[in-house]
Amino acid sequence: MSSKMGHLRLFFAAGLVVSAAALAAQTRITPPKNSYPPAKDVELGLQAANQAEQQLPIMHDEVASSYVDGIGKRLVAAIPPDLQHPEFRYTFKAVYVKEINAFALPGGPMFVNRGMIEQAHDEGEVAGVMAHELSHVVLRHGTAQASKAQKYEIGEAAGAVLGAIIGGRVGSVIARGTQFGLGASFLRFSREYERQADIEGSHIMAAAGYDPRDMANMFKTIEEQSGPGGPQWLSDHPNPGNRYEYINAEAQSLHVTNAIHDSREFARVQAHLKTLPPAPSTEEATKEASRGATPRSEGPPPSGRVEPPSSRYSTYSVGSVFRVSVPSNWRQAQSSGAVMFAPDGAVGSVNGQSVFTHGVEIGIARNETHDLQTATDELLQSLGRGNPRLGRRGPYRSIGIGNRDGIEAAVSNVSEATGREETIDVFTTLMRDGNLLYIIGVAPRDEFATTYGSVFQRVVQSMRLSS
Ligand SMILES: [Zn+2]
Repeated sequence: MSSKMGHLRLFFAAGLVVSAAALAAQTRITPPKNSYPPAKDVELGLQAANQAEQQLPIMHDEVASSYVDGIGKRLVAAIPPDLQHPEFRYTFKAVYVKEINAFALPGGPMFVNRGMIEQAHDEGEVAGVMAHELSHVVLRHGTAQASKAQKYEIGEAAGAVLGAIIGGRVGSVIARGTQFGLGASFLRFSREYERQADIEGSHIMAAAGYDPRDMANMFKTIEEQSGPGGPQWLSDHPNPGNRYEYINAEAQSLHVTNAIHDSREFARVQAHLKTLPPAPSTEEATKEASRGATPRSEGPPPSGRVEPPSSRYSTYSVGSVFRVSVPSNWRQAQSSGAVMFAPDGAVGSVNGQSVFTHGVEIGIARNETHDLQTATDELLQSLGRGNPRLGRRGPYRSIGIGNRDGIEAAVSNVSEATGREETIDVFTTLMRDGNLLYIIGVAPRDEFATTYGSVFQRVVQSMRLSS
């Protein structure tokens, strides 16, 4: 493969006057041999992307999402014609975790961490990492690498991809039953592919109006700013040697003038991210996701138009864990490993996540070591990570839940579904095994004050715990 990389690609357009400097030519990149059709990239990438979206906290924040999407589209428009695959579907999503990392899956799905946007020095650096990731996609490195791993069926690879992204113990749990090593080979690239992605990424950046030197700068930023344990991004994308130097040399041959380094949007998105609650680490975030086993939920958003709660109550037994009474016009639904009771019109999905506008969700969160107050703090923090527009919580109040000591705390939020202000009323108590039982009531703020606040109290007072 490396023998093909020394070739030079010269661009002469008819009638164009080419300056002597332009003859310091760009390096030509030839995509590696691949025994799969491009449609396989698309299939595997979608499979892995679905998994990733179930496990990782995808940001639904308009400022961050549209910023990442905007840079992505600009880069896609700059892919050279010979590397365009019409069946590929490029998507760009921001992930609410703090590490400086990003990854792209075969066929087009790309994920950029909040930490990457926050720690970059300018827009060119963000675009640099994205151009590098995009180059792995257009050069089809994922399936080219899988073409070499003939020992395994390629279908197994997708299952292990997420394990490779997350790494460590959490990853091996998620990748259970699959070949972990193969997953790693799917996303951890050889030095030869790294060099290809650096060079092709330089070309794409230049064509999109960015300065490829910012890509080299970002690699330095990643090295400098990654926390303990070393940068994940660099272990997936190892330095082939002299990376900084050859990217700068390539940039020289590309003659970029008036490149975008910085932008007003970059300053805006960085300032915006500072106003959001701190992001968890990937490991923390995925632990929560596997605990809740959030299924992807498809369907229309809830209308939020519901009948008032009936004054008659119906009693439900849930497993052998608890009994609870709720207004008789609410129905039981399963949600994220918890149980939900809500009226018609209150439940739906927004961006693949199940949401509800009125009703209660009752569930159990793993807690082995903490007292009630600390466990409740943790629950509210995780609520904040899933709901970036969550407000400040009110004071904790002591409350009895099924003859046990409990806590109540109300938090304001803006509904993902309706955009209206809502009140989230959280009740918690400890189970005998130490786990945290929670009841979360949700209603629009005005309806909470007039009606639902007292309904939630009555629901909580009806709880009978048997473990
Ligand atoms: Zn790479």
